[in-house]
Amino acid sequence: MSDTGTIVIVGAGIAGVHAAESLRKEGYQGRIVLLDSDNQMPYDRPPLSKEWMTGVKDDDNILLRDPSRYESLDIDLKLGVEVKDIDPVHKILYTKDGSSYQWDKLMLATGSQLRTLSIDGDDLEGIFYLRKMADAKAIKQYVQHVQEVVIIGAGFIGAEMASSLKQLGIDVTIVERSSYPMENIVGRQISQYFLDLHRRNGVNVITNDSVVQFNGETTVEEAVTAGGQRIPCQAVMLSVGVVPNTVVSHPQLQTNDGYVVNEYGETSISDVYAAGDCTSWPYQGVPVHIEHWDHAVNHAKKVSQNMINPQSSPYAYIPYFWSEQYNNRFQYFGHAKTWSKTILRASTDTNMFTYFYLDDQNVPKAAFISNQPKNALPIRRMIKQENPVNPEDLADENISLKKVQRVLT
Ligand SMILES: Cc1cc2nc3c(=O)[nH]c(=O)nc-3n(C[C@H](O)[C@H](O)[C@H](O)COP(=O)(O)OP(=O)(O)OC[C@H]3O[C@@H](n4cnc5c(N)ncnc54)[C@H](O)[C@@H]3O)c2cc1C
Repeated sequence: MSDTGTIVIVGAGIAGVHAAESLRKEGYQGRIVLLDSDNQMPYDRPPLSKEWMTGVKDDDNILLRDPSRYESLDIDLKLGVEVKDIDPVHKILYTKDGSSYQWDKLMLATGSQLRTLSIDGDDLEGIFYLRKMADAKAIKQYVQHVQEVVIIGAGFIGAEMASSLKQLGIDVTIVERSSYPMENIVGRQISQYFLDLHRRNGVNVITNDSVVQFNGETTVEEAVTAGGQRIPCQAVMLSVGVVPNTVVSHPQLQTNDGYVVNEYGETSISDVYAAGDCTSWPYQGVPVHIEHWDHAVNHAKKVSQNMINPQSSPYAYIPYFWSEQYNNRFQYFGHAKTWSKTILRASTDTNMFTYFYLDDQNVPKAAFISNQPKNALPIRRMIKQENPVNPEDLADENISLKKVQRVLT
């Protein structure tokens, strides 16, 4: 691509910022415009439910880059700019405030948007969602003056918020619709482990029930469940997941659980690419949608390389995410929608264990690691190699994970 062209990136989250930066690292000298509807300097989201919420990190600590970095890399960062439409024929995009931007190549890095619930009484004060810095600030300020919080949904963000709020001395009740939260991702045994972990840490966890009404004068005072429980609370956080943000649309732009991209990050429209949370991409030959920080970073880097050196760099990264709760660090590698067998290595009682998800050929498709970061590297390799392993060896802590590979492949 000519170094005099313009690349426009929509979304200055972790994917957009890494894309812009890696274009420069790869030597691209044309114009880079980075647009975001948020007014804040680009920031990192994971700390919002963890170290930032508990006060270990402040606003400056979670900026993705020092503000001067954009200038020094000659990245034209424009905040508070919401993109509405694209015209792929004339290579122009339009924003909500009526301005337009011409591009030679376009990257969509619009991330995820919140899934919302409509519940009777949800217009009362004290009811929150968490996706942006502004949401996190509103929650943090509000909970300074409350003693009891209800969290709806025991997914990772709800679980992390329960942990952080407990750390702030707040009484927390989680209401979870299913009997085993995140069972489809981590399996029943690890789901049960999470339930026990919350309860051991003093959180009231209600499963198999859902909040159907909020009561209060002007502020929320009570959450009522379908099962008839009335839970006193002065604040509520709804944490019921996200969906890919494909709000920038066009009839020719194919979407299916995100913008559909090939292994190079190309969408169905020529010269329009997409990366990060907003995409559906081919992983081990199957389209997947992943909403994790590490994927957003690595995907954006690869896709931006392909924007300037077309189809040079297929993306084939093993998905990875982490979570932190009650001073435990959890890591998950791979992606398994279903599995035939699970193997526990060490006991969950110690909080230090690894759990494998194998297919019917005994190929490890994913692994969940609790407080055993040294297992990360061999496991990433194991999942990438797609070789069958002996499940008994995996379960045996006396056999190193590296040896499991050597003995059996
Ligand atoms: C509270 C919280 C905690 C998390 N913790 C973890 C964790 O522990 N581990 C982990 O792996 N992942 C975690 N995640 C997920 C991780 O943050 C995301 O996977 C990552 O942010 C995705 O990056 P992205 O750049 O693709 O999208 P986003 O970070 O969503 O960025 C997209 C950007 O696009 C902008 N945008 C959207 N539409 C438009 C438009 N029309 N015009 C202009 N701009 C637009 C948005 O304002 C946003 O800034 C967490 C997320 C949250 C919210």
